[in-house]
Amino acid sequence: MIWFTEYQTKNTGLTVKVKEAKHIQSKYQEILLLDTYEYGKMLVLDGAVQTTERDEFIYHEMLSHPALIKHRNPERVLVIGGGDGGTVREVLKHPEVKQVHLCEIDEEVIKVSKEHLPTISNQLDNPKVSIFVEDGNKFLDERKSYYDVILLDLSDPVGPAEALFKRAFYEKVKGALREGGIMAAQTESPFLQELYFKTAVKEIQKVFKYYGTYLAFIPTYPAGMWSFTIASDDVDVTKTDGKELEKLKNLNTKYFCDKIYTSLFSLPKFVSDLIK
Ligand code: SAM
Repeated sequence: MIWFTEYQTKNTGLTVKVKEAKHIQSKYQEILLLDTYEYGKMLVLDGAVQTTERDEFIYHEMLSHPALIKHRNPERVLVIGGGDGGTVREVLKHPEVKQVHLCEIDEEVIKVSKEHLPTISNQLDNPKVSIFVEDGNKFLDERKSYYDVILLDLSDPVGPAEALFKRAFYEKVKGALREGGIMAAQTESPFLQELYFKTAVKEIQKVFKYYGTYLAFIPTYPAGMWSFTIASDDVDVTKTDGKELEKLKNLNTKYFCDKIYTSLFSLPKFVSDLIK
């Protein structure tokens, strides 16, 4: 019997019982594809759980839909990271989207996901999608005022994603948005990764005029408590209106819904205290 433990801090970890394990060493990271009893297939990068077949919908819906419904006409979308394809799949649920660029540094993640995680990666070959195997930080050097929505679907701020949680990178994201543009990022666990969380959110707050942080319950992520931050220089992302709720009605989702949307920024006190 095989058990796998993801050490979420030095003192605590998520443990799952595994049927089968596949190991690949890519140019950037160690990739583990685990077939688990409870969560189905699980993608692990450098020891950190990225996604599982059973709970992936929560993360991918919550990263994508708030930004996409708040934008009045999200035609051009960029996803940085996200090589498993789950965010791209959610983005394509919005009929206004004409073009999706995916910028993933590690080609192996895309390959493994296409082969072993078909329910997550199934839109990567959609004709609206172009894939760029590049470092997101460099990719943005050449893209100015182009995208309507940018989604930062990155692994933890260690290893290849480290620079993409810094102020200089968020400035590039802002520069790559065209008028009315909105970005959303995964910003770590406020409970077990307090410092990562605080740092990412505060850097975003320094760069954008409007911002808001929200949470989702994700069973396989540290402490199950996960955060996202949405931001814009043009759109007050903290406000809602009837049009957004109309758009939401037509979305086929399992976690994101009108009740979550209308109370999106209701945070537990200790979480708002961290990012005041
Ligand atoms: N849901 C995940 C989480 O929070 O654990 C993120 C999943 S997604 C698979 C993260 C992806 O970001 C990985 O495939 C990784 O290769 C990619 N990535 C890391 N650094 C990157 C960079 N500098 N540019 C583009 N992609 C990057």
